[in-house]
Amino acid sequence: MKVYSEFANLWIWRYVGDRLKWYYNVSINNYPAKYLIAKRVEVPAESYRDFTDYREALKLYVELTERSFEKLRSNIVKGVEDIDEMPIPRYSLLDLARDIVWDILKECIYCRWRCRVDRVKGEKLGACMLTSESRVGCYFHHIGEELVFRGTHGSGTIFFTSCNMRCQFCQNADISKDRFNGMPTSPRELAQMAYVLRIEGCHNINWVGGEPTIHLQSIVTAIWHLGREGFKLHPRRDELDKILKVKTDYYIYNVDKNYANYKGEFNVPILFNTNMFMTEETLNILRPLVDVWLPDFKFGPGRCTIRLSRTPWYFETVTRNLKTIYDWGEDMLIRHLIMPNHVECCTKPVLEWIARNMRDVPVNIMDQYRPEAYADPSSPEFNPQVKDIARRPYPEELEEAWSYAEKLNLLYREVTFEKKGRFVFIP
Ligand code: SF4
Repeated sequence: MKVYSEFANLWIWRYVGDRLKWYYNVSINNYPAKYLIAKRVEVPAESYRDFTDYREALKLYVELTERSFEKLRSNIVKGVEDIDEMPIPRYSLLDLARDIVWDILKECIYCRWRCRVDRVKGEKLGACMLTSESRVGCYFHHIGEELVFRGTHGSGTIFFTSCNMRCQFCQNADISKDRFNGMPTSPRELAQMAYVLRIEGCHNINWVGGEPTIHLQSIVTAIWHLGREGFKLHPRRDELDKILKVKTDYYIYNVDKNYANYKGEFNVPILFNTNMFMTEETLNILRPLVDVWLPDFKFGPGRCTIRLSRTPWYFETVTRNLKTIYDWGEDMLIRHLIMPNHVECCTKPVLEWIARNMRDVPVNIMDQYRPEAYADPSSPEFNPQVKDIARRPYPEELEEAWSYAEKLNLLYREVTFEKKGRFVFIP
């Protein structure tokens, strides 16, 4: 695709292109985003009222994903079928996804806390402290993400407020720890934000927080709007005035609908930038909607996660979820943040697990940890119980982490060092 020729020819694809093939092709509009495929998969039901509850609906959803959706996707890759030749059913997998997430919200089990509170009524709140409302702190072309995501025009990043983990060192504490930060945003407005980012040339829509999982109802419904309305989402002046209030870079970019055009339909890859602390139900819902996963993998199997993040069941939940999406053959890039004093207990077990289970997945082993929030010794809120992480990592700790990755033969060098020059670290 001409508009993305610079992005399509980036040097990084020679190293990680094989593991991000689906994402790459959707990004340059060679393939349709998954939501455009899900829109073509027929659900044998008149409407959601035909199901007794979300469990029954989700069972059929999973069957249809495996049987019909994946078959169609594989045929598109082989070039033997294409979506522009297919009818759009009255009730599709995409419609079913939207209906299921709103039903689940009445006894929320989006993430591993499984609070089972009714977030639609909002009388009792779960660990994320959210009702059905989603707030956007800001959105913009993120030029700090990995090269495969920021490309030449940025990653279209939408930041939600609140989180389901309690990381004492959160690097985005202003939005993750304040659920009233940001602007209340309807799913259609979210879709319009995504629309604007893409026609300004962003390579993906990067749902992040805080944590996007806890906003599943808004994100899935926004994706539904992208699929069902497409270019009709083009905002009117009054709509634009509202959504630009939290866009921090709107005056810079040129607009061209060709950035988003797959055979006349609005196309953009969906990127889920997550802590992975979600349920199997959520994973299954996202499978036919997410084009590329960007999971964090922070802690080893010990008790660091309880002390530093107040989060039980962390390691077992994250590894189960990573294994599931790997076995599905999804595109993914894992992030691991090196923390001071946690190379032995966290970094090494995390890297070992990746080497044992998915050595071919690219890993960004990041060095930018800084003590923030309750780990910041200069803050009045400093928590002395986390003083072990109240500094930046020493160079020796970074070198130890990268040497270990080298020893394990992980695919980490190019995505980790690309901003510094590819071969800056010689172990
Ligand atoms: S998203 Fe997670 S933390 Fe929030 S109510 Fe649902 S299960 Fe609880």
